Amino acid sequence: MVNLFKSKVCPQCGKKFDPVSASCPHCGCENVERNNREISFDKISPVGHIQEFFLALLQLVFMKIAMLGVQSLIVYVLYSKLGDQASVAAWVGENGGALNFWLSFGSDLVILAVAIAIINRKFPIILKSFKNPKFALGIPLGIAMLLITTFWSAFASQIMPGETNANAEGLMSILDYSPIGYALFAVILAPFVEEIMYRVGLFTFLKRIHPALAYVGVGIVFGMIHMHSLTDPVEWLYFPGYAFGGLALSFIYDKFGFGASFMAHLTNNGISVLLTLMSYFAGPKA
Ligand SMILES: [Zn+2]
Repeated sequence: MVNLFKSKVCPQCGKKFDPVSASCPHCGCENVERNNREISFDKISPVGHIQEFFLALLQLVFMKIAMLGVQSLIVYVLYSKLGDQASVAAWVGENGGALNFWLSFGSDLVILAVAIAIINRKFPIILKSFKNPKFALGIPLGIAMLLITTFWSAFASQIMPGETNANAEGLMSILDYSPIGYALFAVILAPFVEEIMYRVGLFTFLKRIHPALAYVGVGIVFGMIHMHSLTDPVEWLYFPGYAFGGLALSFIYDKFGFGASFMAHLTNNGISVLLTLMSYFAGPKA
């Protein structure tokens, strides 16, 4: 069996390349040995196993560091403008929405920059997936995904009614600050960064070990990062919905590529954001 974690030396030009590639990227000769395996990486964007490993760790390890960094930066800017601690505390108390927005937007931008630095010159592999017209399939698939997860949430809220989402209040304050900024973040930036971390990173890395492990791994991780507490039974009730989302996006990525899974994620979040904004603007103003 071919080891998918070890670079292959091209028999024709002698240069090293990723063993999951269909052909040598240097001279174009076919990777015959790879074709003996049943597992295809042709539709997805393998950027190298080491890069994939670090992309997979971005959320789990680096996100906290990025948030602390952005938070320190915001506090530093506020302190240098306002001068003393009491004024900074007062500003934060009055501008929770601005703070929440810049904290999530800023740390996702930092994560994106780190992800681009990790992928580096292999970034065109990701962009290439948009050349496949099947990326548009992500739109109907994203709608289907949203219907199923919404159905699950409705079911979960029927079992345990009266439980509100911990995020709801924070979200309202962000909308008060910048509805457009929120839409850009939730519809474009967050899905792009998440698709890079979970599909290009975690899924592709685990697929080198075994495709089934890739699906199970991403489903569990995607479900768990959306939980606020692992001991709260209510949170576990919502787990299957998120795990399904992780599985569905992985399937779309696996079959149609990064362009399609990004479009599905964008569509899913886009409709949710549209509904949120509609009820926000239609609702009573504080
Ligand atoms: Zn070659």
